[in-house]
Amino acid sequence: MSEKTANSGNVVKLNPNKKKVLAKLCPICAKSAADEYSPFCSRRCANADLGNWLDGKYGVPTDETPDFDHNDDD
Ligand SMILES: [Zn+2]
Repeated sequence: MSEKTANSGNVVKLNPNKKKVLAKLCPICAKSAADEYSPFCSRRCANADLGNWLDGKYGVPTDETPDFDHNDDD
C-alpha cells in the first residue's frame, strides 16, 4: 500500500488580519476615551458612571425617601 503524503509544502500564508486601531468609546457619551480616564473620555463621564452607581441604579433599593437637596441640572 502506497500512501500519498499530501505535502502542502511551505505555504506561507500572509496574515490577512489588518491591525485595526479600535478606539475605545466612552460608554457615557460615546466620545473616544482618554487613556487617563479609560474607558471614559473624561473625569466628568467617569463620575457620571460612578453617579449611576451611587444613584442606586445598581444598588439595593431602600425605603428611605431620597433627599434631593441639591439639583445638578445643567
Ligand atoms: Zn464621555
